[in-house]
Amino acid sequence: MKNYYDVIVVGSGAAGLSCALKLNSGYDVCLISKKTIDEANSYLAQGGISIKRKDEDLQDYIEDTLKAGHYENDFEVVEEILKGSPKVIEELINYGILFDKTDKGEYSLHKEGGHKVPRVYHVGDYTGRSICESMAKIVGKRPNLDICEDTTFYDLIIENQRAVGIKVYNNGEYKNIYSRAVVLATGGIGGLFNSSTNYKSIAGNGISIALKHGIKVENIDCIQIHPTSLYTKIDGRKMLITEALRGEGGILLDNRGNRFIDELLPRDIVSQAIKKKMDEDDMKFVYLSLENIKNRNEIYREFPTVFDACKGEGIDIREEMIPVCPSQHYHMGGIKAKVNGRTSLDGLYAIGEVACTGFHGKNRLASNSLLEACLCGIKSAEDINGELIKFYGKIKENNEKRKIEQVMQGYHNALIENIRERNNTFYEYWLKAENA
Ligand SMILES: Cc1cc2nc3c(=O)[nH]c(=O)nc-3n(C[C@H](O)[C@H](O)[C@H](O)COP(=O)(O)OP(=O)(O)OC[C@H]3O[C@@H](n4cnc5c(N)ncnc54)[C@H](O)[C@@H]3O)c2cc1C
Repeated sequence: MKNYYDVIVVGSGAAGLSCALKLNSGYDVCLISKKTIDEANSYLAQGGISIKRKDEDLQDYIEDTLKAGHYENDFEVVEEILKGSPKVIEELINYGILFDKTDKGEYSLHKEGGHKVPRVYHVGDYTGRSICESMAKIVGKRPNLDICEDTTFYDLIIENQRAVGIKVYNNGEYKNIYSRAVVLATGGIGGLFNSSTNYKSIAGNGISIALKHGIKVENIDCIQIHPTSLYTKIDGRKMLITEALRGEGGILLDNRGNRFIDELLPRDIVSQAIKKKMDEDDMKFVYLSLENIKNRNEIYREFPTVFDACKGEGIDIREEMIPVCPSQHYHMGGIKAKVNGRTSLDGLYAIGEVACTGFHGKNRLASNSLLEACLCGIKSAEDINGELIKFYGKIKENNEKRKIEQVMQGYHNALIENIRERNNTFYEYWLKAENA
C-alpha cells in the first residue's frame, strides 16, 4: 500500500468493483476491503439483478419500484436508474457473467415479490457471487489497481472542505493514504444487528464517518427487514431464504398450518405480519411451505444455496417446511448522493448500499440493489474520469493513539443512537433487543 493514489475506492462489493473497473486505466487506484475481497454482501445476493426488459416495461417497473418504496422515492432517480439498467446487464455480460438461459436460449428471468413481470436476471441462486467473482478476476489482472485486503478504513482526511484521503488500519499499523478522489462503497449496516443476513464486518462505517464530519445523510432510519431468513438457534449471520421461492409458489404458514399473509406483498409488510404472528403465537419462527412449487423434487437444481443451507440444519426442503424468521437485510438510507456518486463533500463519492440516492424510497424492491450498486459504480467512475482535479492536500503521518476496536465501537454506538433518535419505534421493535 502506497501513501498516494489518484483514486481510492473503499469496498470490494458490486459497487466498488464496478467503479474500479470503469476508472481510467491510467489512474493509480487503490481498492480497499475490510476483510478478504469476497467478504462483501454483494457476494451473497441470491435472487439476482433486475433490469428493464423493453421500453414498454419502463412505466410498470417505475410503478413497482415506487409502490415498494411507499412513493417516497426520488422519481427522477428511479427513472434514470431504470432507463440505464440495460447498459448494466450489457456490461456484466461483457465481463463474462453467464446468466441462466432457457432451453430456447433466451435469458431466464425470475419474477420476485413486488414485480409485475419477470425481469430478474440470475445465475442459479448465487448471482452475486458470479457477478463479483467475474469482476474481481478482471480487477486482479489490472496493473493500475492495488488491492488492499484486511484494511479498515476508519476516517476521512478533509482539507479545505475537500476529501483528500483516508485513514486506515492494517496489520497493527495506522496509515494515511491520500488521493484526488475518494469513493465510499462500504455497504450497509447489518453488522449492528445480531440477526442479519449481512456480514458482521459490514456495520455502517461509511455512514458513521459521514455523520462525524457533517456530510449530508438521508433516511438513516429506513432499514429493511427481510421476511424470510432461516431460523437457527445459533447466533451469527442468518441465511437468506430467497424471495424467489415465494415467487415460485412458496407460502407462509403459522404453527397451526394457517396461511396469514399474501406472500408477494412488499418485504416490509410481510416482515411485520410474520413478527406479529410470531409474537401472538409466542414462537421464534413461522414456516415456509414449498408444497405448491412445481417440480419440488428438482428444487435443489434451481436453489442450491438454500437447499444446502437447509440441509446443513437437517431440513430436506423437498419434503419439509422451512422455519423462517425476519432479519435485518438492507439499508435504504445512507450518505446522500447523486446517481454519479457525488456527495455534499467535494472529492467524496458514495455508491451502492452506503449511499442514499432516493432510488429505493422507504423500502427497496427485490433485486434493485445490485442494479443500483453496479449502475452508480459505473456512473461514478465516468464522473471521475471526466474531471479529476489536481491533488492539493498536504501529506502527513498518521499518529493515531486509540485502539482500532475502540474507534469502531464508538462508530457503532453513535450510529445506533442516531437511528434511535430518528425512529424510536423501529429501534424498540427491531434493534433494541438485539443490542441489549
Ligand atoms: C444474503 C443477501 C442476499 C441478497 N440478495 C440480493 C439480490 O438477490 N439482489 C439484489 O439486488 N440485492 C441483493 N442483496 C443486497 C445486495 O447484495 C447489496 O445491497 C449490494 O450488493 C451492496 O453492494 P455494495 O457494493 O454497496 O456493498 P457490499 O457488497 O456489502 O460491500 C461492502 C464493502 O465495503 C467494505 N467495507 C465496509 N466497511 C469498511 C471499512 N470500515 N473499511 C474497509 N472496507 C470496508 C467491505 O469489506 C466490503 O468489501 C442481498 C443481500 C444479502 C445480504
